[in-house]
Amino acid sequence: MKPFIPQLVYFEPEALHYPLGKELKEKFENMNIEIHETTSHNQVRGIPGENEWQKYRNAKSTLVVGVRRTLKFDTSKPSAEYAIPLATGCMGHCHYCYLQTTLGSKPYIRVYVNLDDIFAQAQKYISERAPEITRFEAACTSDIVGIDHLTHSLKKTIEFIGETEYGRLRFVTKYEHVDHLLDAKHNGKTRFRFSVNSRYVIKNFEPGTSSFEARLQAARKVANAGYPLGFIVAPIYMHDGWEEGYFELFQHLAHQLKGIDLSTVTFELIQHRFTKPAKAVIQKRYPKTKLDLDENKRKYKWGRYGIGKYVYPDDDAMRLEITMRHYIAQFFPGAEVQYFT
Ligand code: SF4
Repeated sequence: MKPFIPQLVYFEPEALHYPLGKELKEKFENMNIEIHETTSHNQVRGIPGENEWQKYRNAKSTLVVGVRRTLKFDTSKPSAEYAIPLATGCMGHCHYCYLQTTLGSKPYIRVYVNLDDIFAQAQKYISERAPEITRFEAACTSDIVGIDHLTHSLKKTIEFIGETEYGRLRFVTKYEHVDHLLDAKHNGKTRFRFSVNSRYVIKNFEPGTSSFEARLQAARKVANAGYPLGFIVAPIYMHDGWEEGYFELFQHLAHQLKGIDLSTVTFELIQHRFTKPAKAVIQKRYPKTKLDLDENKRKYKWGRYGIGKYVYPDDDAMRLEITMRHYIAQFFPGAEVQYFT
């Protein structure tokens, strides 16, 4: 697929005081993209659309260039200690995506230009924990790889972490646009993960993202560039024929990665879950979705802030976990499964 190009761009005036802000302004002017000003990246007004649905779609192709003021990083579990804030929002249309609820009425894509402030904060966290390793997750609130061909912020972050002794970076993507990252000096400190799933899940629930084949081609490039490689299987979803569907996934994955050194490859396994507010939003935005959000088939798990999640009942969850671990052991002996959640 073609790399993401925004239809509309907003700038916070303060962003233009930073080299990246200036560079982006020039870039978007040269691309003849409509540019507006916004006083705050948290309050963007005037995204076109005659109804909620159109506004939502247009917001997903709107880019807002701003300054990150909250420098305290969120803690990120289970894959890292901190979430490093490079961007918020995503142009993808995955029906199950949790950003739909966490970003609420602000589904537009924000990128931050004060990278030096963000790196200084990351350095502070690394120093506090040294000599323990500190891991940063760059894809908690966006699919950063899918946007990075525009900003190169991720590339700079990879190189920043590459220079540190105790810092590590990780992120996950469903996009194939990795070429500019291949020559980044990562020093082996960034784990590049791809999100993969059964054919059924990708086809029905992941519009607006790269195909499975394209993701795998990108994974090969990344592995050949010496990055530690990983896969996240998420959300693991019990569709009709899921056992064959996931078998095919791992079989295909192993086949496509022939010849690649997989001795340090990792897998992360996340079962499908949803909250009540998420269900309401998903059904409004993707009314024809086939995503099964029937609470009666799930187990309620209490969560933070009183918003519990619906996960698979214990028996189903166990079947999912055992099956995935079995396939991974079969096709990727020696790979590390970091967690199932
Ligand atoms: S690619 Fe990731 S962040 Fe983007 S919509 Fe899909 S799940 Fe959400």
